[in-house]
Amino acid sequence: MVQINRSGSSQEKEPRTPIIAGNWKMNKTVGEALSLVDIILEDLDAFEGVEIVLVPPFIALYPVLELLEDTNIRLGAQNMYHQESGAYTGEVSPLMLREICDYVIIGHSERRAYFGETDEMVNLKVKAAFRHDLNPIVAVGESLAQHEAGHAKAHITSQLENGLKGISEADAVSLIIAYEPIWAIGTGRAANGAIAQEICAHIRQTLARLFSSDVAAQIRIQYGGSVTGDNIAEYIRQPDIDGALVGGASLKAEEFVKIVDRTIEADFQKQKTGLR
Ligand code: PEP
Repeated sequence: MVQINRSGSSQEKEPRTPIIAGNWKMNKTVGEALSLVDIILEDLDAFEGVEIVLVPPFIALYPVLELLEDTNIRLGAQNMYHQESGAYTGEVSPLMLREICDYVIIGHSERRAYFGETDEMVNLKVKAAFRHDLNPIVAVGESLAQHEAGHAKAHITSQLENGLKGISEADAVSLIIAYEPIWAIGTGRAANGAIAQEICAHIRQTLARLFSSDVAAQIRIQYGGSVTGDNIAEYIRQPDIDGALVGGASLKAEEFVKIVDRTIEADFQKQKTGLR
């Protein structure tokens, strides 16, 4: 079984290791999930310098875990409830996830839009994740209307302030923040590197205000929204972007492996130029 590892806390003062997470959303039966992982494992060369997280649907978590047992690929869940157990039909608890996952995505825009998740619910879930040694990947991002009205930063500031209320500095270093402009998710209209960098720098400044500059410097920030093997390097090159949350492209083994490979190359260049 995968050892629970709060990777952020173990890398205090270290450069931030890029993290690529593949969010499969509500795609793939268990059989299809296993085939996809088989091909990814076949195609992926021994890798270092990047953390890879697969985030299949709940029902595929355990079978996928068995395939990942001898690898250093981590497993994440797409969501969870904040209570440990009880009469909450259809929900999955952090106690259940902690046995098999290292990560949990919290507050994805699809959860917010289709299932009514609020910043307050996000906050309860982030706290529950930390109580149970799960690393939360907290998704934030603005709608197209907010983007066009120039309200992106204000909206994200408020998502961070409310979603991360009451989190200690010791826990905060293990946070992953995924900046996902809603207008870029699944649309093929990816944010360009400069826009993504500007917002991710704003996220880091906000984290510095909420926690401390030292903590903010350790938190990994991903970009998400129509990431592909062809555009990933543009994000990884940015000083405040430490990886990607990948949707559609993570369902294709070849594309996902290309994203990982390009991340390693771009991060190597970034280190050489002293940008991280
Ligand atoms: C996502 O769902 O988090 C996402 C970024 O999707 P896509 O890569 O398909 O835009």
